[in-house]
Amino acid sequence: MNARADFPFFVADDAPVYLDNAATTQKPSCVLEALRDFYSFTNSNVHRGAHRLSRAATEAHEAARSTVADFLHAASPREVLFTSGCTEGINLVAQTLALSGRVRAGDEVLVSTDAHHSNIVPWQMLSERTGAQLRPIPLTPELEFDMSAFLSMLNERTRLVAIPVISNALGLRLPVEEITRAARSVGALVLLDGAQCIAHESVDVQQLDCDFFAFSGHKVYAPTGTGILWGRESLLEDLPPWKGGGEMIDQVTFARTTYNRLPFKYEAGTPNICGDIVLAKALRYVNRLGLPAIHAHESALMSELCEGLQQLPGVRLLGHSTARGSLVSIHVPGIHHYDLGTLLDQMNVAVRTGHHCCQPLMQHLGITGTTRFSVALYNHSADIQCALTATEKALAMLR
Ligand code: PMP
Repeated sequence: MNARADFPFFVADDAPVYLDNAATTQKPSCVLEALRDFYSFTNSNVHRGAHRLSRAATEAHEAARSTVADFLHAASPREVLFTSGCTEGINLVAQTLALSGRVRAGDEVLVSTDAHHSNIVPWQMLSERTGAQLRPIPLTPELEFDMSAFLSMLNERTRLVAIPVISNALGLRLPVEEITRAARSVGALVLLDGAQCIAHESVDVQQLDCDFFAFSGHKVYAPTGTGILWGRESLLEDLPPWKGGGEMIDQVTFARTTYNRLPFKYEAGTPNICGDIVLAKALRYVNRLGLPAIHAHESALMSELCEGLQQLPGVRLLGHSTARGSLVSIHVPGIHHYDLGTLLDQMNVAVRTGHHCCQPLMQHLGITGTTRFSVALYNHSADIQCALTATEKALAMLR
């Protein structure tokens, strides 16, 4: 795959070896041009206008929704809600479940130990509000999802299971298909956090058979402040709105308000019109390259990276699963991740260090953080070799 030329970020001679793609991705020219074009030529608010530009913006915004629906293999664009990101999508589900009375005192919400804070704290808030109990699903000693522990935790009080498809701190892919089947067998809802899979593998929400799927646009070559919550139509129909304002209403009187149809019921106020349209542009770009080709390219890079890291003295790769996404975390006993990250930065290699918004996982591991390397479609073997050489050098300096 040779898509690097599509990304102006890499034109500069001193562009970093960018291996922080799990945090955010660089943007291709088609996305940058679409941003400029919208504000240069077609900027207008959606829904409310009789004029041409407003109609065009409304059509483009709804066409973007259909593109996202196709990308996720959703049954209908009505199931696709524009959000500001993965975090907002998960909060939407947690808050509407609390408002709906579907989660009550004594109910249980199960969350995997390696979940991101944005997939833990909203459930904690839901639990505090409703009297439900938040229960972490343990990991095996190999740091994989503990399926047998999970199966034994499921019961008739389990209301919801929330898990990442790929954990952002460990990079391991969870057996989401099996987890979803088991959860559904006790009548629990399933929310999949797709933040770390959306740019790397095809998603079919109907085949996954989950109830909610959330992701952020900026992790899939789109601007920050964009995101999607996909929800099963019958559930979205049933749950109450969470934010009040323009567009989410049907009729308003001081006595009573009735709400708009899907998906607008959940989209109060002026949406991120340009961002949402450009998100669809980014998804079309990914489709043009093809997720199977992207996946194959990144898997080869990941093998090279993991093999190289494993050969460095003292380096421990966290998790050994063969089902790995496009990132890997390392821990080097005796060396602080921040020192390693800082030296790598001085050698022009950008990686992420810290707890990766997974403090409960770090507590489980008994460490304060890791050094995380993550690849995207524009990385190539030279990036990996550069990062490996720099890591070896940095570790020698720190010993
Ligand atoms: N879940 C996972 C697995 C993530 O990696 C992230 C971002 N690091 C999020 C949720 C939150 O995404 P955002 O901050 O874009 O809402």
